[in-house]
Amino acid sequence: MRKPGRHFLQIPGPSTVPDRILRAIDQPVIDHRSPEFGDLGRRALEGIKTIFGTDANMIIYPASGTGAWEAALVNTMSAGDRVLMCETGHFAWLWQRLATRLGLQPELIDTDWRQAADVAAIEARLRADSSHEIKAVCVVHNETSTGCTSDIAAIREAMDGTGHPALLMVDTISSLGSVDYRHDAWGVDVTVGGSQKGLMLPPGLSFNAVSEKARAASVAADLPRSFWDWSEMIAANATGYFPYTPATNMLYGLVEAVDMLHEEGLEAVFARHKRHAEATRRAVTAWGLEVLCRVPDHYSPVLTAVLMPEGQSADVLRRTIHTEFNMSLGNGLGRLQDRVFRIGHLGDFNDLMLLGTLSGIEMGLARAGVPHERGGVQAALDFLSQTPDAAKAER
Ligand code: PLP
Repeated sequence: MRKPGRHFLQIPGPSTVPDRILRAIDQPVIDHRSPEFGDLGRRALEGIKTIFGTDANMIIYPASGTGAWEAALVNTMSAGDRVLMCETGHFAWLWQRLATRLGLQPELIDTDWRQAADVAAIEARLRADSSHEIKAVCVVHNETSTGCTSDIAAIREAMDGTGHPALLMVDTISSLGSVDYRHDAWGVDVTVGGSQKGLMLPPGLSFNAVSEKARAASVAADLPRSFWDWSEMIAANATGYFPYTPATNMLYGLVEAVDMLHEEGLEAVFARHKRHAEATRRAVTAWGLEVLCRVPDHYSPVLTAVLMPEGQSADVLRRTIHTEFNMSLGNGLGRLQDRVFRIGHLGDFNDLMLLGTLSGIEMGLARAGVPHERGGVQAALDFLSQTPDAAKAER
């Protein structure tokens, strides 16, 4: 059945791809060994560094984020190595499962899935590891299943305080291009990113930013690797090429996305996400519902996970909203299945899109018979109209 108007893709990634990026991708496919390609490859590899905040080597894979998770581990670790991971939610748990499948020994610091990574617990565990058995600390910057964001700079500082030599690996799949991130300044060794969220691209590209220390570790590491191997990539990338067929047209999109983020200004992009997150939380509170993240300092600028009232199904609500109002919301993952719905407010997004999103939810709550107070949309509208976008006001 025809559904008039645009679908509202309000899952926390993939996010809506702006027309400008779709137009950039819509090119004839070129020869990936041609001189023309070398220029595109170089622009993509250089441009993306500015978003990761790095001068280090960037690896671009034609793969989803899960591939770049695997690449981070197989390039730096050896069979049986211990890695310290923080179970901030479903994605951190999946990364841990991947590590187990690769033959590593992950050690999990758990949380109640309602807060970010526990910096003090990481520090304490590293201090206790006097023989330096732990080879890496792995953290998900923005836990997309819960809407909690971890403080990577604080984790780095805590690690430095212990003098422990473990590598720091960070998943920025749902924060990159939406939340402040600095690979070099925060001393991250491997940063893992993906195309389909803050970068406003379709799914299909993923990234590793690689510090010198991680590069050195990769020489000694013995986990088998071929497709994910950094060394061949880095050698070919030196002239803008790839060791195998790259996702050529996605690279056109990537160059465009980087330009768009800089045109707006990264600081303005980060402020816009924070402002929309605040407006969303005001709506949730006015509905009388509960935000899953229970530590205000950990609130995610990218998405808000909302707890359903006891006995109410998040999946029924999402289905109702999808059918009636042509909008997708994120589902509850893992132990949160059917307990939460997730509102994505990331990527190419503005005030009116947010108000449309919140209107769809408020109508859906009524239509699905979920007990709630009215006035969530009004609360967001009041906040947005009384709190102008600071970056726009300056222009
Ligand atoms: N890590 C985080 C934080 C994510 O949000 C996702 C996907 O949503 C992944 C990893 C997995 O990435 P992909 O689905 O692109 O393989």
